[in-house]
Amino acid sequence: MSETLAKPTNVAPIDTQARADIVLANPRGFCAGVDRAIIIVEQALEKFGAPIYVRNEVVHNKFVVDGLRAKGAIFVNELDKIPTGSTVIFSAHGVSKAVRREAESRGLIAFDATCPLVTKVHIEVAKMRQAGMEIVMIGHKGHPEVEGTMGQVESGHIESAQVDAAQLVADSDIHEHDRVDESADNGMYLVETPEDVLNLTVKNPEKLAFVTQTTLSMDDAALVINALKAKFPLIKAPKSDDICYATQNRQDAVKIMAKDCDLVIVVGSPNSSNSNRLREVAQNQGVEAYMVDNASYLKPDWLIGKKKIGVSAGASAPEVLVKEVIAKLQILGAAEVTELHGVIESVVFQLPKNLTNSAAKIKII
Ligand code: SF4
Repeated sequence: MSETLAKPTNVAPIDTQARADIVLANPRGFCAGVDRAIIIVEQALEKFGAPIYVRNEVVHNKFVVDGLRAKGAIFVNELDKIPTGSTVIFSAHGVSKAVRREAESRGLIAFDATCPLVTKVHIEVAKMRQAGMEIVMIGHKGHPEVEGTMGQVESGHIESAQVDAAQLVADSDIHEHDRVDESADNGMYLVETPEDVLNLTVKNPEKLAFVTQTTLSMDDAALVINALKAKFPLIKAPKSDDICYATQNRQDAVKIMAKDCDLVIVVGSPNSSNSNRLREVAQNQGVEAYMVDNASYLKPDWLIGKKKIGVSAGASAPEVLVKEVIAKLQILGAAEVTELHGVIESVVFQLPKNLTNSAAKIKII
């Protein structure tokens, strides 16, 4: 899915007329799943030494990925680029069963940085398919999380859901699932919009459930869910919301902040789903909003005539980049900085047991 990103710009002359205040959304930036994924790569580098291979960007942020690359991580899109016997880490977005199998068959030592909240959706999918239900996934085509979740059940196979969910969340090493049945296809459908729902045909509307990508816009997802419920009244919803706490909290915070702003800047990389959704949330409030990978992308023109600038950051964007954006806004003429009150997040996820020999602490880059 293509996303809009502002182009870099040179530092402009200070505009002394622009004295807009800056408001900081709260919460913003790193979530527990991103913290954990970064630490897993750092711990693997510390324990096994470079190089450590990472399938896909471990989290969708250029600054983070460049930092890990400098420490010895090698990012690859496909496992066949990795020498046999090497250590590979699966990204926070999760992987399909086929990728796990391929890693094993290639003799790779795999560590799983899949966010436990993504794993929760994988488990839901496996259990519902085991119960003979078809599943509609609401998500963005081509996003790695969608590929991983859709790939939890493969064509020709229904995978066993006889797994201990708590154990999977606590101990995120590779798990083998027994094949217990076979069917003609994988019984999963992907939809992105209410229009997709109109065109959707399923085999048995009475045995149907839906799951969602964890980083969707809550408002957009609600439209698709309503369309699903209207077309398939017996469709089963997930027990708890699949859109994760971090996505929900950051979108709520931007909604509140944007009400009083005439410009919103979201710090995030162009391939970050949840960062893009934050920009859209602000735009849907009728506010001019841009997403920037770092401070060099800010354009002085954006500040002209503005009174209050809201700043937030996607769940994969480190706070240091927010600080740099604030500093650049102030060079461009912005004034006071106020941080809004917001939900206090206390979620922490455990690391894989065989990576925790050395002290593993949550670090903010
Ligand atoms: Fe996990 Fe949500 Fe963070 Fe994604 S955004 S890593 S699902 S907590």
